[in-house]
Amino acid sequence: MEKIIDGIKKFKKESQSEYVKKYSHLTSGQTPKTLFITCCDSRVVPTTFTSSEPGDLFVFRNVGNKVAPYKNENSYESDAYKAIEYGIKKLKISDIIICGHSECGAMNEDDEKSKQNVIKQIENIKTYQIIKDEISSENLKINGLWFEIKTANVYKYLPETNEFEIIK
Ligand SMILES: [Zn+2]
Repeated sequence: MEKIIDGIKKFKKESQSEYVKKYSHLTSGQTPKTLFITCCDSRVVPTTFTSSEPGDLFVFRNVGNKVAPYKNENSYESDAYKAIEYGIKKLKISDIIICGHSECGAMNEDDEKSKQNVIKQIENIKTYQIIKDEISSENLKINGLWFEIKTANVYKYLPETNEFEIIK
């Protein structure tokens, strides 16, 4: 905790006033267009590798970037569902990204398993009626990404070939 407090003090001293000025538009509300679902892993920092700013990404994280499939209308198995519902209804997001990563503890550090897991979560998320409706009215796209820790390369899932292609 001490390291965190020291970091807050450093931020306060060196960057806070500039930050408040730069992001003053965010005090009136957030308008992110992307719901970014990823793993809790500390090495995965989506704002860094997507060059995003505060206000850009609506982020949901859990271990293994999972979205449980729809069960029944009174029992949403997925804790991601609240983020999905808020993202669609309130924020009018146009993209959902499910992002896995290399050396993922939840995948026993099996990179192929981690990629397959992203594809599985894309299938799972499409079991929700709210998602089906948004996709069919072309308001929403579901995307898969995969982040490689040792190279910091990001791969995009291509449904046509069922493969992940490096983003150059
Ligand atoms: Zn992970």
